[in-house]
Amino acid sequence: MKDLNVITEAEIAVPTHPVELRHFIDGAWVDSADGAVSERVSPSHGGVVSRAAQGGEAEANAAIEAARKAFNDGRWSRISGKERAAVLLKVADLIEEHTERLALLETMESGKPISQSRGEVEGAADHWRYAASLARTTYGDSHNTLGEDMVAMVLKEPIGVVSLITPWNFPFWILSQKLPYALAAGCTCVVKPSEMTPSTTALIAELLVAAGLPAGVCNIVLGYGLPVGSTMTSHPEVDMISFTGSTAVGKKISEIAAASLKKVALELGGKNPQVIFPDADLEDAADAVAFGVHFNVGQCCNSSSRIIVHEDIAEEFTARVVELSRQVAFGNPLNPDTQVGAIVTEDHQVKIDGYVTEAVAEGADVKLGGAALSVDGVGEQFYQPTIITKLTSSMRIVQEEVFGPVLSVLTFKTLDEAIELANDSIYGLSAGVWSSDVHTCLAFARRAEAGTVWTNTWMDGFPEVAFGGMKQSGQGREIGRYGFEEFFEVKSVVMRVGKGSRGAWVGGK
Ligand code: NAD
Repeated sequence: MKDLNVITEAEIAVPTHPVELRHFIDGAWVDSADGAVSERVSPSHGGVVSRAAQGGEAEANAAIEAARKAFNDGRWSRISGKERAAVLLKVADLIEEHTERLALLETMESGKPISQSRGEVEGAADHWRYAASLARTTYGDSHNTLGEDMVAMVLKEPIGVVSLITPWNFPFWILSQKLPYALAAGCTCVVKPSEMTPSTTALIAELLVAAGLPAGVCNIVLGYGLPVGSTMTSHPEVDMISFTGSTAVGKKISEIAAASLKKVALELGGKNPQVIFPDADLEDAADAVAFGVHFNVGQCCNSSSRIIVHEDIAEEFTARVVELSRQVAFGNPLNPDTQVGAIVTEDHQVKIDGYVTEAVAEGADVKLGGAALSVDGVGEQFYQPTIITKLTSSMRIVQEEVFGPVLSVLTFKTLDEAIELANDSIYGLSAGVWSSDVHTCLAFARRAEAGTVWTNTWMDGFPEVAFGGMKQSGQGREIGRYGFEEFFEVKSVVMRVGKGSRGAWVGGK
C-alpha cells in the first residue's frame, strides 16, 4: 500500500514536484505495458501537476477481466449489504481525513478554487455515506396474491461489471456520484477519469485498499477516451456504462453500446434557464443568477447560462446582475477567498471567446466582460465575467453550451412565452423559476422540460434526490434511490409451493 500522508490546511501550497500516478488493476498499482505516460500542466500556475500512466487497450482489457472475475466469484457481489456498507463508511471517513490532499490536487489540475475543491471533497464523502445506507436497505417485491399454490419474489441483483467514465469539471464529485452507488449495489467497476484530471480518481485506490475493498472490485485505468474509454464501452464483459461528459461523446457511447445492448446511463450537457418574474425576491434571484453562471467559471453542466427575465424588470435586473458579477472574486485558485478560478485549457478559453465574438458580430450587446483576463502571478487562462443582452433564442450563444462565465439574457411577457423559451433547447438538464407565487412556480415546474427544476433557489443538490437530464441531456438518473436502482437487474422468481398437482399439460389432465 502506498503512503497515506495527510496534508494539513497550513501546508497548502503549489506542489514542488508532480504526483506520479499508475493504474490500479486487480488490487495492484501498475504502469502501462508500453510505458506511455501523460502529463497535466496546471491551468492556473503552470508546471506539471501530475504524471500519469497512459493506458491502452491492454490495460483496459486487464481491468475489465479483473472486474469480471471479482464479480463472478462473489467476493463483493454476494456478501451482505452490511459488509458492503462497512467498507463504504470507512471510505467516507478516509476521504474526510484526506480532504486537503485531494482538494489541492483537484485545484491544481482543474483550476477551481481551493475552497470549492474542499467543499466538493467533503460533499463527496456524504455520497459514500448515503450509498452505505442504501446497501443495507435494498429490497424487492413479494407477491402472495397469486393463488394458494404460488408465491413470487422480484429480486434486485447487481447488474455486473460497470464502466464508469467521468469528465474534468468535477472529477472527484462525479466519481462519488457513481462509484459508491455501483459498489453499494454489489457491482464491480472499471473507472476512467478524464485525462486532464486523473489525480483524485487515481488516489482513491489508496483509500479503497485502506477501507478493505477486495482486490479486483474497483479497477482504475488512466488515459484518453480512445482507446481506454472506447474499450470500456465495447468490451463484451461489460454489462453497463455510466458516463458523464459531453452530449457528442455520450451519443457515440450509446451507439457502440447498442451493438451488444449494454445498459447505458448518460449524464450530458445542459443549457439551463432561470426564469425571473417581477414578484420574485429580486436580490436573491440576482445573486443566484451570478452564482449559477460564474460558479466553476461556468464549466458546469448545471450552469445557468441563460436567463429569461420579465420585460418589465429586465433592465433593472440585468444591471443588478452586472453589479454583483463585478464583485465576484476571480483569481488565484489557491487563495481561500477566491470564488472563481482558471479555465481548464487555453483551447477552451479560445472557444468561449469565439461564442462572444460571434454574438457581438450578430448585434448582441456586451453589458460586462467579453474578453480573456490575466491574473497577477497566476497567468492568463482566465475569462472575465460576461453578460450579454440583445439576443434571440436561435443564436448559437443561447443554444449551445458555452461552458464559460458567460450569461445570455432573454426577455418574456407571459408565463407561456417564458416556458416556450425555456424549453427551446435540445437540452433538458435543469431549469429554475423565481416568483413569490407558488402557482407560478408550480405551473413552470410542471411544464419545464428538465430533469431538475429549482424554484426560488439554484443548484441545491442532495444525495437523496435523483439527478439527470431529459432530451439530449442524458438518460437514466444518478444518485438518490433512482440513481442507485440503475445498477440493478430485476429478476422474478416464481415458485410453486403447494403440494397439489400443477395439472399435466400433456394429455390435458
Ligand atoms: P467529454 O465528453 O469530452 O469527456 C468525458 C469523458 O469521456 C472523459 O473521461 C473522456 O476521456 C472520455 N471520452 C472521450 N471520448 C470517448 C470515447 N469515444 N469513448 C469513451 N470515452 C470517451 O466531456 P468533458 O469535456 O470532459 O466534460 C464536459 C462535458 O461534460 C460538458 O458537456 C458537461 O455539460 C458534461 N457534464 C455533464 C454532467 C451531468 O451530470 N449531466 C456533469 C458534468 C459534466
